[in-house]
Amino acid sequence: MPRQTLAAATAARNAWIEVDLDALDHNARALRAALGGTQIMAVVKANAYGHGAALVAPALEAAGVDRFAVATVAEGVALRGAGVTRPVLVLGHAFPENAPAAVASRLALTVTDDRLADALALAARAAGGEPAPVHVKVDSGMHRFGLPPREAAALAARVRERAGLRLEAIWTHMANADEADDAFSAAQAAVFAGALALAGPAPLIHAANTATALRRPELRHDAARIGLGLYGALPANTPDPGLRPALALKARLARVLDLAPGEGVSYGLTWRAARPSRAALVPVGYADGWKRALGNRGHALVGGRRVPIVGRVCMDQFLVDVTDVPDAAAGDEAVLIGAQGGEAIAVREVAEAADTISWDVFASLGARLPRLAHRRGIVAATA
Ligand SMILES: *Cc1c(COP(=O)(O)O)cnc(C)c1O
Repeated sequence: MPRQTLAAATAARNAWIEVDLDALDHNARALRAALGGTQIMAVVKANAYGHGAALVAPALEAAGVDRFAVATVAEGVALRGAGVTRPVLVLGHAFPENAPAAVASRLALTVTDDRLADALALAARAAGGEPAPVHVKVDSGMHRFGLPPREAAALAARVRERAGLRLEAIWTHMANADEADDAFSAAQAAVFAGALALAGPAPLIHAANTATALRRPELRHDAARIGLGLYGALPANTPDPGLRPALALKARLARVLDLAPGEGVSYGLTWRAARPSRAALVPVGYADGWKRALGNRGHALVGGRRVPIVGRVCMDQFLVDVTDVPDAAAGDEAVLIGAQGGEAIAVREVAEAADTISWDVFASLGARLPRLAHRRGIVAATA
């Protein structure tokens, strides 16, 4: 692909996502420094939190992250398709029927039952290669996925003895890591320690997500499962080791229109001009993951200024009040997440305006938005 600037690559696009590969590199380095000797397991589920897994995962591998995690076998297979070679863990549930695909793509599965263990052992032996890596998950109190300590220890013992399987890890997950009060993590840590004592050694122990890894050094163990932090965002309770946002969501104003006092905009006419006003149409909607809850609540940046969303967010578009940006014109760039001029809108601000969390805003970013990975404004890859 010829070297193209972001400006040239987006000149005739309604809306797009920019992924700053230098920021990803920086975040991987900053997190590695903050976590000491703990391995980084980059969590790239849900299309790398909306950033585009095919762009992000190879860049993170080049940046030196030790391993990857996804939610499903299909996501792991796609990572291999994108050229990822480091170990990949499937965090979520898999069916015995998925075992051959997992073996063919060298995925480690989280195993919580013997039927899956059996299927995985059979598939590994049929393939004639290495034993299949298994991560046994302990339910230490979140009561979502995993096995209670005694059952986890028993399963780990069976995996160890089973031809075709290799016990690679024992792990758990914290329920309150990103809460203002994360004291329950200490209670879970005690349950997990008990499980580890029952189960005996495993090559890899992991328990921490971004918040836990940065807040609780004692729970870093051998590897930390880092999602949000690598993308340059953090929960409100977590100290910032100097991360940089990797994603920007941008659009071009499709139309600028004049409104007389009393005239309303968008479905339901829920906002009406209180003064002679100008509104600009932004071609992004809830189908792109721009939450409908942002209607009359969120902001965008136009002309380097923060402008309010007016009226309801529609499936494919919404309006902003640009009365105070007199130069605003069709074709101008609007920033929905990211920086423009001296202003910036962080994903957490969008999440708070939409009454949700940063993970939800990222994961909602739709397939319709093109992703452009760049280094210093030069496009490196697209998806
Ligand atoms: C998504 C996920 C993570 C990553 O969490 P972040 O807060 O984004 O770092 C870690 N562990 C598990 C089990 C997850 O599902």
